[in-house]
Amino acid sequence: MAQSLTRIYLQVILILILCFLAIGYVSYLAVRDMQQLSYQDRASRVALDTSSRIAELLSQQRQSLGAFAKQSGVLTVLQHGTTAELSRKAAEIRSQIPEAVSVDLLPWTDSGPVSSAATLDPASLDYVRRMTASSQSAKPEFHEIGTTSEHYKLAVSVRDERQNMTGYLLVGFSRAPVQAILKQSLPQNAYLELQQPASRGTTQAVLTVGTASNAGSVSMISEIGGSGWMLFYQDAEAPPRLLSGYRNIYFWSAIIIFAIVLMMLYRLYRRTVKSVRHDIQSLIRMFQDLREGSVRVSYPMALKEFTDIFEYLRDRGQKLVKEKEQLKDMGLMDHLSQLGNRRHFEKRLKELFEAAKSNGPSSVLIIDMDHFKAVNDNHGHDAGDALIVGFANALRKVVRQTDVLVRLGGDEFCIIYSYAPLNKATGLVERLRRQLPREIPLTKGVIHQLRWTGGLSSMHDKDTKPDDVLWRADQALLQAKESGRNNTKIYDPVTGAPVKKQIMAS
Ligand code: GH3
Ligand code: MG
Repeated sequence: MAQSLTRIYLQVILILILCFLAIGYVSYLAVRDMQQLSYQDRASRVALDTSSRIAELLSQQRQSLGAFAKQSGVLTVLQHGTTAELSRKAAEIRSQIPEAVSVDLLPWTDSGPVSSAATLDPASLDYVRRMTASSQSAKPEFHEIGTTSEHYKLAVSVRDERQNMTGYLLVGFSRAPVQAILKQSLPQNAYLELQQPASRGTTQAVLTVGTASNAGSVSMISEIGGSGWMLFYQDAEAPPRLLSGYRNIYFWSAIIIFAIVLMMLYRLYRRTVKSVRHDIQSLIRMFQDLREGSVRVSYPMALKEFTDIFEYLRDRGQKLVKEKEQLKDMGLMDHLSQLGNRRHFEKRLKELFEAAKSNGPSSVLIIDMDHFKAVNDNHGHDAGDALIVGFANALRKVVRQTDVLVRLGGDEFCIIYSYAPLNKATGLVERLRRQLPREIPLTKGVIHQLRWTGGLSSMHDKDTKPDDVLWRADQALLQAKESGRNNTKIYDPVTGAPVKKQIMAS
């Protein structure tokens, strides 16, 4: 099927658009991934840093409580002190711990810690009980969450010389230092939340800084060593906007480049179509000149690719015109069919007969149209002439330039297959039968069903004159006409049999 230039160009444009889209999408993904990675990095750095700072604060606080627990005064007051003495000692300790919001000394009995201070709330007592039940070192716990007096409790056990449980030192710490750590490490657009375990495996937020974002895509939870607390970090990453900052410039640059490429392609397309049209016009002009018998020396060409083939056609055309003129000059041309005439045929047959010894035999096919007279009778002499011209043109199209094609006279034509022995010529005749048209249009819309009969033979070593092969081909033609027309008979000069094979019309 013929290719359309427009279609090819449209395909190129489509491929370009797809490439641009693919490159754009991949770049977008790459930028987003890079951002994600950097956010991820920052998130883990912040989470780690904050956790370790809180853990350090807790460990310092635990250490200082441990030191108080070992003071003999504390032990004595827990073993024997009155409520008033316990309160006094607690107040003394509180004055030594700047971040303490409350200090309680709880003596130990078999049933658990005893609240010596009337103010101690049940939640704190419960906390101490749970601490006693667990073998691990005391974990901090936030109390009065969500209120202004929110603080966290830390308890250490006080033991006598024999390591017997004597009581508890329970300190309530201000949340301010922890909050300060969270605030200091908080990057812009981020959110930090300190969580502590709640009932049934859940957690509850106890401290928050920054603003939580629904769109935040990078979040992580890290544990604060030995505290039971968790740190939730969320980076409110703004999804990369494609058209912001430099990307805006890149995007519009890409659009402009794309538009320029499209424009260039369109100009290229216009130029190609124009050039092809121009060269086809030149070709048409050359054929017109050929008909008129004067092919010019050169024709303007726009496309380099067509120049070679065009020059070849022009040379062949010039040669044809020259040959035609030569034939005319020498009276060797048949005026009606514009093919060589009988004189030309005899001249060429003689030449090929003489060359047969050195170059090999040539073969001769005589063609006679069937029922040609009927065309004359039914449609007039002009229609008969038109059939002769039409048949001659059809033959010219399919006969090789190296072979000799002539009109012998009337409705009789002849082809000399130069240097083609009989078997090769047989193949060529079979091809000729296939290639010739079935119908030839005559004048006044009359369509003639083309039928022809052929006689084929080839030159032989024993031939004494050029006419010998012609006689054999004639004999074959006669036989073919007698056997019903529309076929080709072959006279083999080797066997001498008048008719050996025949080629039927398909
Ligand atoms: P067959 O099938 O046996 O070949 O019969 P046919 O009708 O083709 O007749 P045949 O080949 O024997 O005769 C050719 C006829 O062609 C004879 C003549 O009237 C006619 N004729 C010869 N020269 C010309 C010509 O230049 N123009 C026209 N129109 N007719 C011609
Ligand atoms: Mg005839």
